[in-house]
Amino acid sequence: MSQVYGRVALIGLGLIASSMFWAIKRGGLVGEVTGYARSEETRATARRIGLCDRVCDTLEDAVKDADLVVLCVPVGAMEAVARQMAGSLKPGATVSDVGSVKRAVIEAVGPHIPEGVHFVPAHPLAGTEHSGPESGFAELFDNRWSLIVPSGDPDAGAVADLRALWEGMGANVDVMDPDHHDLVLAVTSHTPHLIAYTMVGVADDLRRVTDSEVIKYSAAGFRDFTRIAASDPTMWRDVFLTNKDATLEILGRFTEELFALQRAIRTGNGDLLHDYFTRTRGIRRGILDAGQDVDAPNFGRSTKAK
Ligand code: NAP
Repeated sequence: MSQVYGRVALIGLGLIASSMFWAIKRGGLVGEVTGYARSEETRATARRIGLCDRVCDTLEDAVKDADLVVLCVPVGAMEAVARQMAGSLKPGATVSDVGSVKRAVIEAVGPHIPEGVHFVPAHPLAGTEHSGPESGFAELFDNRWSLIVPSGDPDAGAVADLRALWEGMGANVDVMDPDHHDLVLAVTSHTPHLIAYTMVGVADDLRRVTDSEVIKYSAAGFRDFTRIAASDPTMWRDVFLTNKDATLEILGRFTEELFALQRAIRTGNGDLLHDYFTRTRGIRRGILDAGQDVDAPNFGRSTKAK
């Protein structure tokens, strides 16, 4: 794969930025990658593990000659970062981000983008429950979707270059409208996370009355919830605060369905339950057929406790 950008700056050096760096290196996609994180500790870790060609001590230094700047901080932190770096951006550069919510990021970051700099928001649909500079790996985006979510009338060349970078990192790329993005993600990611957080919270309350049996005998369903509910608290707080309307809309629908199933259980309506579960099993098959998960037992995890 040929080089897409001369210089890229990654701002925030956690799971997504570190995975981007390793994927960029794997593909030889960029001449030099600079990196910046707010804490000295994260910058020191990045230097120790060789994350970024050059780790900078200031945001301004990291972005000043970059052809592409990618904001990889929590959604709620994007506005302050955009404001601080605005005066240091190179004319003709592109600013992008990887935030999990798009309308709020466009409203927060857009006003700080100077004349002559392109703004092309994006969101890779890939992640794990781990965070920090040591959690990234080059394969994270392989065969996953990365959505480019432009606001207004984006520069075609800037969009094409960003698409080439994500494709070079292994992702499939689609372009999507911001509000549609936020609704789709409320269904596929945000509300499921909220439900997992809630279920683990309920189990934690019960643990106090069941003398830790919830942990000791945790079965696959609950364990899968705990993995999702281990996701970064700051990132997810920001997701719910900034994708409020879509999440509340989907939560409302979820609650209605839950009541319908609750009623079916109470009234012994086995046909309804069976039909419902048959339909949902079909959705799992669709995800496997689309290559978005593997069919290995226990989601491919070892059955041995570690
Ligand atoms: P992460 O591993 O927790 O790393 C976050 C980075 O942002 C760290 O370098 C942290 O700096 C920095 N940061 C945190 N708060 C900040 C603040 N107030 N001001 C400036 N910098 C701050 O996070 P991540 O999982 O890579 O997520 C980054 C972005 O990607 C988020 O917007 C998230 O919505 C999006 N995203 C995440 C996933 C996922 O599954 N994790 C998937 C797709 C998109 P320090 O280390 O110095 O504290």
